[in-house]
Amino acid sequence: MELDLTDEQRMIQAMAREFAETAIRPIAVEIDREARFPHETVKRMGALGLMGIMVPERWGGSGADTVAYVVAVEEIAKACGSHAVIMSVNNSLYCDPLLTYGTDAQRERFLVPVAAGQANGCFALTESQAGSDARNQATLATRDGDSYVLNGKKQFISTGREASFALVFGQTDRAKAHHGISAFVVEKGAPGFGVSKTEDKLGIRASDTAELVFEDCRVPAASRLGEEGMGFTIAMGTIDGGRIGIAAQAVGLAAGAYERAVAYARERKSFGVPIGQHQMVQWMLADMATAIDGARLLTLRAATLKDAGKPFGVAAAMAKLFAAETAMKATTDAIQVHGGYGYIREYEVERYFRDAKITQIYEGTSQIQKLVIAREVLGRTAGRSA
Ligand SMILES: Cc1cc2nc3c(=O)[nH]c(=O)nc-3n(C[C@H](O)[C@H](O)[C@H](O)COP(=O)(O)OP(=O)(O)OC[C@H]3O[C@@H](n4cnc5c(N)ncnc54)[C@H](O)[C@@H]3O)c2cc1C
Repeated sequence: MELDLTDEQRMIQAMAREFAETAIRPIAVEIDREARFPHETVKRMGALGLMGIMVPERWGGSGADTVAYVVAVEEIAKACGSHAVIMSVNNSLYCDPLLTYGTDAQRERFLVPVAAGQANGCFALTESQAGSDARNQATLATRDGDSYVLNGKKQFISTGREASFALVFGQTDRAKAHHGISAFVVEKGAPGFGVSKTEDKLGIRASDTAELVFEDCRVPAASRLGEEGMGFTIAMGTIDGGRIGIAAQAVGLAAGAYERAVAYARERKSFGVPIGQHQMVQWMLADMATAIDGARLLTLRAATLKDAGKPFGVAAAMAKLFAAETAMKATTDAIQVHGGYGYIREYEVERYFRDAKITQIYEGTSQIQKLVIAREVLGRTAGRSA
């Protein structure tokens, strides 16, 4: 695996870093406190090409690769977890499936504005009884002539309130269980489609998390993504890619907290010396540095495999698992390095800690990543011994 970034990847990384430092960091505390969606900076991220990084220019995007995407997400997350998830939902969970499964007409209408950053997209799979058990969809999509009629509720949908387009999954044939799930693009303002609730959250507070409701919502058959019954395959394939974005978000949060911990360890004194001279503080910093590098390498490996068109699902699960656990540990230890000040809002490391927690939960909990990895490990072992 090539460890060096290409000139283009470096350029995108530097641009994302500069934008994160100058435009996002100054507002990160305020938008977290107010739980306010950052319309202005998200629009500017769109103008910089960060909202459709992997989409070819022909379809409104930047035409870069997954490696460029992950290095950019990391830089954004170093400044603000909310911006990072808004960016990764748009790129991985909306643009990617539209590009992969959309017809040219669907790409023109539903992908170009989102990849170009003029509108946002969201991904609506989860329901109250269908989180880890995503097959258990209750939303119905009943065929009626040239359209489908959607009825049901989607829960915990990132950017759900702000998005102009929602990729929604529902049952077109209950008898076929998850083979009867189909995917649809639903436009904001469609009659019968509404936002019933916005969640008040522990972290990523500036990213809205909404409950979407569909009541006799009529969607043209031309808005179905892929064939009838392909929805679950589309959802799982999309989430495999999404996990790489979440891994990058986790690496960025860990790195952001770590950088603050290092700076604090240099300046804060106890017993007459900077606390960085105490061996137990050094251990925390050394563990953080090592785990963050490990998480970054796993994330880059998954991205590289995806770019090479090779199977990447298990690599993505490993990257997401390790990066999320690293983010939680590193942000916890960053608070510890800060002592009591770490617990106080003003010092910001507590925000990284709150933002990190969700990386262990969405797009498959850490437990679900272990199931994915174990299935592969046992399958491989069985294959070898056969
Ligand atoms: C802030 C936020 C944003 C989100 N954004 C989106 C979004 O944009 N789109 C979307 O569709 N969804 C989204 N989600 C939903 C998210 O993906 C689910 O919450 C997640 O997959 C877990 O599902 P659940 O909440 O139903 O938990 P459950 O599935 O009920 O899990 C509860 C616990 O049981 C464990 N568990 C469950 N099954 C197993 C098993 N088989 N083996 C071992 N352990 C198991 C889990 O690991 C967890 O610890 C979001 C959630 C949140 C909180």
